[in-house]
Amino acid sequence: MTIPPAAPDTFHVYDTTLRDGAQQEGMQLTVHDKLRIARYLDQLGVGYIEGGWPGANPNDTAFFAAAAEGQLTLRNATLVAFGATRKAGTFAADDPQVQALLDAKTEVVCIVAKSHDEHVLRALRTTLAENLAMIADTVSHLVAHGRRVFVDAEHFFDGYRANPEYALEVVRTAADAGAEVVVLCDTNGGMLPSWMADVVSAAAQIGVDLGIHCHNDTGCAVANTVAAVEAGVMHVQGTVNEYGERTGNANLVTVIANLQLKYGWPLVPPSALAEATRITHAIAGITNLPLSNRQPYVGSSAFAHKAGLHASAIKVDSNLYQHIDPMLVGNDMRMLVSDMAGRASVQMKGSSLGYDLSNRDLAARITEAVKARELDGYSYESADASFELLLRSEMGLTDEFFEVLAWRVFTTHEVKPEGDSEATVKLRAKGISHILVGEGHGPLNALDVALRGALTPAYPQVDNFELTDFRVRILDQGHGTDAIVRTLIDLTDGERTWTTVGVGTNVIEASWEALYDGYRWGLLKRD
Ligand SMILES: [Zn+2]
Repeated sequence: MTIPPAAPDTFHVYDTTLRDGAQQEGMQLTVHDKLRIARYLDQLGVGYIEGGWPGANPNDTAFFAAAAEGQLTLRNATLVAFGATRKAGTFAADDPQVQALLDAKTEVVCIVAKSHDEHVLRALRTTLAENLAMIADTVSHLVAHGRRVFVDAEHFFDGYRANPEYALEVVRTAADAGAEVVVLCDTNGGMLPSWMADVVSAAAQIGVDLGIHCHNDTGCAVANTVAAVEAGVMHVQGTVNEYGERTGNANLVTVIANLQLKYGWPLVPPSALAEATRITHAIAGITNLPLSNRQPYVGSSAFAHKAGLHASAIKVDSNLYQHIDPMLVGNDMRMLVSDMAGRASVQMKGSSLGYDLSNRDLAARITEAVKARELDGYSYESADASFELLLRSEMGLTDEFFEVLAWRVFTTHEVKPEGDSEATVKLRAKGISHILVGEGHGPLNALDVALRGALTPAYPQVDNFELTDFRVRILDQGHGTDAIVRTLIDLTDGERTWTTVGVGTNVIEASWEALYDGYRWGLLKRD
């Protein structure tokens, strides 16, 4: 292995979750959502937060207005307004879209400029010379109004392949007009890591600071970003949780963790990096798009080890089985308790959850209980919360937050706005009985509404609990509708997500059990 390159004197970590990331299908962010996400990005320690495109999108205009009015106080990051070069055949000074960038009142403005000749001729429908004039005029106008200007050279890599002289001329024009950084964009996401260095080096000849903006269409967005950094760029763009259109943008947290933990570059405070798992999960809660368990560094499976064979070795030295200490990114090593599991892995799993299972009899009893439940169809590989509840009950720790007296649910073919299902839950909590009817779309939703409503008088904190995912597996397919069903449910309180498991002969029974465990675990941790 070669020695990691030295850290550059200045390095920009630039987040575009709120602009390019928000292009993802199914993502709809309100102004309030954007303000909350921006605060989390600031906690993560990024240098720049691209907030959106004022003037082009009313929501984004409102976001920048809210930020300027003091609703967004950033400790680390600088807010950036994004826009485009002026229209062809006009003046930047007369262009309302350019004026909207100034009205956003940010210290930094990032404008996108075309750098691929075909795009200039066919999409912009103007001449190559006019495109250069648009860049020069817009950049110098913004600089004259006191802004620091970054320029995104759109389709730069494809443009360089088609017409290298013109693509480089775009970079030169932006630099001459006063752009502080020119960002080379792999807009179509088609590059490979070994192709980056030549193109970046050619642009570096111009002498302006360069940035990189990659999309993940070849599955190489992070690798391409790191390759560009090695070739000399001092500014990286990306999004949290790989948000972005198509296959997403470069995962900014993975880029930061790679450069900081592998190269030793001090990009964000170590205490902020240690919050990365919490922050990325919290942002996923706001976007309401579940975070992939397999996401590098911060996914819940990122440091999950199949128990059994490895368990005794992991006990000796966990670093033998993981590439970094998960605590550095605020994650945890997880042991997956499966039917291959022996006592060693149950003990380790227990101690990772904070329980002392060094007593061999106790550990053996819990292992037997896990095995018996796995035989019935339960699976604790991802259902940590249900495992912890099982472990507590075997240890004699009772958590009687509430007692369910009765529940039922029915579904009709009539689809009403409030849903097609109605559930009734009767329970006793803190000595008082509560009964509540909930309506919802589907039986699980109705049960969730009813259970939450019945618990709220005794435990107002359940109002924050939200069911985010629900997975069903038929275990014995030979029996058709008589088969055993296993359901896994994810609940969140906005900061943590936990998983529970339920098993039954029908999907509603299994779902109810997982839901019941989910609320019990949430109350346990909240108390
Ligand atoms: Zn992009």
